[in-house]
Amino acid sequence: MNYLEIKKYDISNGPGVRISLFVSGCTHHCQGCFNPESWDFNAGKPFTEETEQEIIELLKPDYIHGLTLLGGEPFEPGNQQALLNLVKKVKEVYPKKDIWAFSGYLFDKQIMDVMAQKYDFTKEFIKYIDVLVDGEFHEEEKDLSIVFRGSRNQRIIDVPKSLKKKEVVLHEKDAIRLGGAPWKKGADLK
Ligand code: SF4
Repeated sequence: MNYLEIKKYDISNGPGVRISLFVSGCTHHCQGCFNPESWDFNAGKPFTEETEQEIIELLKPDYIHGLTLLGGEPFEPGNQQALLNLVKKVKEVYPKKDIWAFSGYLFDKQIMDVMAQKYDFTKEFIKYIDVLVDGEFHEEEKDLSIVFRGSRNQRIIDVPKSLKKKEVVLHEKDAIRLGGAPWKKGADLK
């Protein structure tokens, strides 16, 4: 697997200050994608053991809330395999830090019903993800006022609860579907 970037102080892709890994390769090719240079699996540089170690070190400070995996597509099968060791290590070293992932694949219909039936590594990989923001980017549903997503079709899923219940359980931050008002930038700055 290749990756494009590691962001060291990311405050946009999950709660708190986070380390974000932008992996290379995505087959969804959504119209209006924010990061089309990430579609190429050969873009960026190789993800090595040193990169893994670098991320473990970057996660160390107490003010770092957790790790976010995005791209590109972290759930392309080859990328899942390459990321499995990283997520295992992160949970081993920092059991209290959370792991968020962004995927164009749907948690229930594509990840659990198809990939997890086909690949043992998906069954394992998904267990290390705390929160999954799922769904392709739909330009016609684009909404800049909703947190952590580009379009309103995308869901914020509580993965451990969903795995336990064997159905999609939305995360408390999914204000759109949970009935809360989506946070609008500046709305609480009076
Ligand atoms: S899934 Fe994400 S990275 Fe891939 S094309 Fe869609 S918006 Fe772009």
